Amino acid sequence: MKPRTLRRASELVAAGLVPPERRGEIERVVRRFAVAVTPHVAGLIEGASDPIGRQFLPDAAELRTAPEERADPIGDDRFAPLKGIVHRYPDRVLLKPLLVCPVYCRFCFRRETVGKGGALTARELAAAFGYIRRRPAIWEVIVSGGDPFLLSPRRLKTIVRELAAMPHVQVIRFHTRVPVVEPRRVTTALVAALAADKAVYVAIHANHPRELTVAARSACARLAKAGIPLLGQTVLLKGVNDDAATLEALFRALVAMRVKPYYLHHADLARGTGHFRTTLAEGRALIRALRGRVSGLCQPTYVLDLPGGHGKVPVGPCYARTHDTETWEIEDPAGVCHRYP
Ligand SMILES: *Cc1c(COP(=O)(O)O)cnc(C)c1O
Ligand code: SF4
Repeated sequence: MKPRTLRRASELVAAGLVPPERRGEIERVVRRFAVAVTPHVAGLIEGASDPIGRQFLPDAAELRTAPEERADPIGDDRFAPLKGIVHRYPDRVLLKPLLVCPVYCRFCFRRETVGKGGALTARELAAAFGYIRRRPAIWEVIVSGGDPFLLSPRRLKTIVRELAAMPHVQVIRFHTRVPVVEPRRVTTALVAALAADKAVYVAIHANHPRELTVAARSACARLAKAGIPLLGQTVLLKGVNDDAATLEALFRALVAMRVKPYYLHHADLARGTGHFRTTLAEGRALIRALRGRVSGLCQPTYVLDLPGGHGKVPVGPCYARTHDTETWEIEDPAGVCHRYP
């Protein structure tokens, strides 16, 4: 029998990923938040607390909500003029054609919505295209979800074709975890569906160097060979990648696979994710440790998506401060300060 994606507590127990005595608590988590572990990811898990298991296996800690945590941690609702669209910045818009993912990351910032709805209907999708078509200020469309690479190549092609035909849309950016968690889905047909005369970028979500398996690397290579620029997105996660050596290995591996690390996201205030969140001070110290020691290509921007919908803001360390009205004081990568006029 072909291995299937694991979704229920009983399946996780049967696969040996969760001990039988924890089945009851895991069932409660499964009722609250969607769970999915692809066979590819299941094969990488060495235990509930290893960096892969921690990201994908449900944990009773998810049932604890801290007072500062929210159902809508980055304020998407305020900027959702119609179903499937989030329009926060003037020049770009998020298009969410579906709310389904191949896996459900336990720290997901959209965990209250993903895994609960399906895909936009043909009529809803047409309305979303209409919204974008009528707004010449929209320069870029970010196709997200859920995970758009779960759509069939035929449906992906329709989306690319519709968007590329709008004269003001210059860039189409897909955000996906499929190349890492279900690499065999990146077929020749899927890659071909992304072809357009406009720039098509693919941003790949990866958090730990062990996710970059041989299969994941070849999935990325298929995209890169088709001329698609690849970006990396990483979430800073306690117990997964919150040490300089892991981040260094991850970013070096991504760059060597032709994936440019774009953002390192500070973990959002999604409900039941406190066990993953570092402090901003810890994040800044990690970024500082990479600067100067690791190639500039391997340095993503450390960003916080402000609660309330105020947008993404770089929150990395600052190396320049005013000394007096005439002079700046600039810290070099070794931590030594220099005067600059
Ligand atoms: C993250 C996000 C974007 C993309 O932001 P970039 O800084 O361009 O990567 C666009 N719209 C919304 C609503 C977002 O949350
Ligand atoms: S792939 Fe993205 S949207 Fe889906 S569960 Fe993970 S973080 Fe959330």
